[in-house]
Amino acid sequence: DTAGPSRDFTRAKPADVLHEVYGYDTFRGDQAAIVDHVIAGGDAVVLMPTGGGKSVCYQVPALVRPGTGLVVSPLIALMHDQVDALVANGVRAAYLNSTQLPGERQAVERAYLAGELDLLYVAPERLNTEPMLRFLEKGRLSVIAIDEAHCVSQWGHDFRPDYLALGDLADRFAGVPRLALTATATPATHQEITERLRMPKAEHFVSSFDRPNIQYRIEAKSDPRRQLAAFITAQPAGSAGIVYALSRKSVEQTAQYLQTQGLDALPYHAGLDAAVRAKNQSRFLREDGVVMVATIAFGMGIDKPDVRFVAHIDLPKSVEGYYQETGRAGRDGEPSVAWMAYGLGDVVQQRRMIDQSPGDRGYKIRLGQHLDAMLALCETVGCRRQNLLGYFGEQSEPCGNCDTCLEAPETWDGLVPAQKLLSTIVRLQRERGQSFGAGHLIDILRGASTDRIRQQSHDTLSTYGLGADLSEQDWRSVVRQLLARGILVARGEYGTLALGEPASGVLRGETPVPLRRDVLGRTGGAPRQRK
Ligand code: ADP
Ligand code: ZN
Repeated sequence: DTAGPSRDFTRAKPADVLHEVYGYDTFRGDQAAIVDHVIAGGDAVVLMPTGGGKSVCYQVPALVRPGTGLVVSPLIALMHDQVDALVANGVRAAYLNSTQLPGERQAVERAYLAGELDLLYVAPERLNTEPMLRFLEKGRLSVIAIDEAHCVSQWGHDFRPDYLALGDLADRFAGVPRLALTATATPATHQEITERLRMPKAEHFVSSFDRPNIQYRIEAKSDPRRQLAAFITAQPAGSAGIVYALSRKSVEQTAQYLQTQGLDALPYHAGLDAAVRAKNQSRFLREDGVVMVATIAFGMGIDKPDVRFVAHIDLPKSVEGYYQETGRAGRDGEPSVAWMAYGLGDVVQQRRMIDQSPGDRGYKIRLGQHLDAMLALCETVGCRRQNLLGYFGEQSEPCGNCDTCLEAPETWDGLVPAQKLLSTIVRLQRERGQSFGAGHLIDILRGASTDRIRQQSHDTLSTYGLGADLSEQDWRSVVRQLLARGILVARGEYGTLALGEPASGVLRGETPVPLRRDVLGRTGGAPRQRK
């Protein structure tokens, strides 16, 4: 509801609004420039990292310009929280969404038409209906803010078809300044936002996406739960954190395991009872040192500034997703860590999921490109941050605050092992029409004596036992890195391995194969603040 002490800020000075409504002394970064530009009636495309302060950019103009600011936001939970916080600060804010009772909705509609609302939040699917648009035309809009604007990008990781129609707002509400805001956009997505939301004359405000207080660490997976527990235990006592896992089952098992290690871990996923979810979330928000083990649904719109670490025990599907999830750490600017364990199984599983996903070829290619970029980040021997920022089109120097900067990774020449593996695959295919997953191929190379090897008489292959000099763990690392580079491809339900296009250069000895030596369980102790 819209009750509460409120003051009319129409035509007030932006700095006064900032002070009186939010209690801040000064605008931060691009905020002042954005606010001035929009108050003067201009459109703006705003790229700012999580925690950068996007809300102020549209809320202050909405308060200062006559009329109601319309905020398009895809997340109902987030809408709730934002509106509550605004109302508590004396702002006349409300939302319209599917969770409302008719009475509530009518009260909000009346307030809008009477010009008694400063901000109105609406979900895109609701906004795209003719009755809704006609209703909005009967009142007066001051600004239109489109939050999470990257959702308009069909090549992005978080496409929402409802966003496509938002471009029509340009005609429908000509003269109302519009802002598109996002915390994640590659150069291509940035361009798509501008085109699809029809903002050719917008001014672009692009902040650095760097989150210098976050330390990035990625290690090879061997025993992920134990590695995770070691990482968490190495953090300062009482650190709150989020652990992301892909499946509900893995969420529950991981939370249980961490509990047995004496950690205050709680599960969170959509399959849990709503009351349990609410209780776990509120403990995470209010108490110290709670570790929330969750599926990626958790965290959007959760405003907890002192999350000290975000851990991934499964590989995220894209760099954008990884960046968004890790971005939930350290919004208060204090040292924080983004930690991940990743292994061969992740690569095989994700390639399989892509193969099996419904969708046309273009869609699968796009998913494959997202995965490739993610793998490149995992396998880089260079600075993680440089790689991450580079993905978002930003040049930078090695950061000094990621695992590869802090402990330069060792590399080794993987050409010969790669050739042994590739020629084993080729022989089995050509001579016997067979293909196998990594486990059996590694058994052959290491000269193992398994039932399967004896039954198939794979001990007669010329490469049998040729790779006994490497451990099974080493071989898994080789396979993983060859997969990451497309030298190998995994196929079908069992992840059988075949040669990728660059494999011929490797077999001819023309393509060098420098490999990263895996580091297991190097948690690095307490995070360091970057200078
Ligand atoms: P975003 O939406 O970009 O993630 P928010 O708008 O939620 O960021 O703001 C992030 C944090 O920064 C919030 O805790 C907010 O109160 C704070 N903040 C925003 N602008 C300012 C400012 N000008 N001065 C001080 N704190 C600010
Ligand atoms: Zn670095």
